[in-house]
Amino acid sequence: MLVKAQHRLESKPLIVCAALTGGVPPHAAGPGHPLDPGAIVEDAIACHAAGAAIIHIHARRATGETTMEPAAYAAIAAAIRRRGCDAVLDFSAGDDGGRASHEQRLAVVEAGAEIVSFAGGSFNIGGRLYDNRPSFQEALASAIAHAGLRPEIEIFDSAHLQCVPRLAAVGIRPPLFFQFVMGLPGTLKPDTALLEWLFSELPDGSEWSVSAQTGADIATHVSLLELAVRHGGHVRTGFEDVRLMNDGSPAPGNAALVRQWVEHAARLGRPVASPTVARQLLGSAPRGAGCANDQEHRRTGHDETGTANIP
Ligand SMILES: [Zn+2]
Repeated sequence: MLVKAQHRLESKPLIVCAALTGGVPPHAAGPGHPLDPGAIVEDAIACHAAGAAIIHIHARRATGETTMEPAAYAAIAAAIRRRGCDAVLDFSAGDDGGRASHEQRLAVVEAGAEIVSFAGGSFNIGGRLYDNRPSFQEALASAIAHAGLRPEIEIFDSAHLQCVPRLAAVGIRPPLFFQFVMGLPGTLKPDTALLEWLFSELPDGSEWSVSAQTGADIATHVSLLELAVRHGGHVRTGFEDVRLMNDGSPAPGNAALVRQWVEHAARLGRPVASPTVARQLLGSAPRGAGCANDQEHRRTGHDETGTANIP
């Protein structure tokens, strides 16, 4: 039975999330980093074609500055859908480096995503507090539930696993989707033993992914994502998290990072999940024109047959 269960995990479709840009200020960004709405849309299309089922977006203005304006998010989402791309859109409801109020963060829920980030709790990031106090969590969870969306539950600290009852209280049902964020200042140590413990603590039926932000230590980044691939989890890549390819060379772009993990996962026995399969795994529903169009990812090699392997 154990062998059978392990085989199921190994062949389960892998969701690759492309975190395109993050909140890096324009002056700190390197070559290939998408810094304006047009570049974000082009990268979203390219990453979807390379095998990413989820596109994680931080909106930006034409100047390259980040913004939490719902209209900026909505314009990016509409442009992606106009191109016939049905990737699952995942918007950051973070605090934009400390600049966004709770009200501005809540407004992101109405901007056209299917998944909205939900921080599991507060913590000190660098020199400031990332404020996700219980009253804000309740408001955000409630807004996500009311809009029929799904939270991406970001776990920055092991104590953040205690946020689960708060989601249940507003009617957010399993399967829950957890993102373990490791390596940022004030967050989880990027450590494989810690990751193994964390996913062993999740509620039954949960899906989980790892975002490993280890800078120049690419070996640790690779070991954490490989652990997720081998144990039925999912992976996040893209310039928000990593600027190097797995061999340590500079990444030419987000699509190259996605393609590398699609190919590496295939070598480890995990087929890549299409957006449709990702939605089935995460209990999500498509939103926006273009979502019903499955032709795009049929051309891209996404595995539509993998649904049979979902535990
Ligand atoms: Zn982000």
